[in-house]
Amino acid sequence: MSKYDDMEQIRYELLNLTNSPLYVYRTENNYFPVVGEGNHDAHIMFIGEAPGETEAKTAKPFCGRSGKMLDELLTSIGLDRQSVYITNLVKDRPQDNRDPEPVEIALYTPFLDRQIDIIQPKVIGLLGRHSMKYIFEKYGLSSVLQPISKMHGQFFTVQASYGPIIIIAFYHPAAALYNGSMKSVLKDDFKVLEKYK
Ligand code: URA
Repeated sequence: MSKYDDMEQIRYELLNLTNSPLYVYRTENNYFPVVGEGNHDAHIMFIGEAPGETEAKTAKPFCGRSGKMLDELLTSIGLDRQSVYITNLVKDRPQDNRDPEPVEIALYTPFLDRQIDIIQPKVIGLLGRHSMKYIFEKYGLSSVLQPISKMHGQFFTVQASYGPIIIIAFYHPAAALYNGSMKSVLKDDFKVLEKYK
């Protein structure tokens, strides 16, 4: 099967994920699961938290206001959406944008794990503390975990089944929407990615 087919299989399984606590909310609101978007051969993969309303209505990750901020950050280092892959930890929108529950993270992360194996990124950029926690724990880095205010911009090399990956946590782009100094921190941290384009 091609990478495209593997991703389509994930989309199909997510559409039919009737055992998800978010399934009824999705169908009642005519929302979609948000699988991910971008280049299946990307060197850099970004993992956000969960879709917001705009994303759930369009099935595209980061296409609302946080997405505009992410676009701006990508542009600032000469990248665009077509050159990276963007997805989320949880693929359905949690009610009223609340934080994802541990049971939801447990249900959706096997899909994320499969996506990592499909894309085989050299670098994983974590957007926010939830994806940071999951990925650091997945790759055996629990002992270095600290609040995102301490972790942002630092990079760690871990071994995946297909080779080494560099893992970097960033503040979530939404944090920069109303905070100019947060935006400069994010822009500074994103510069780390320039050499992995
Ligand atoms: N916030 C996220 O974490 N992911 C999205 O797709 C949109 C907003």
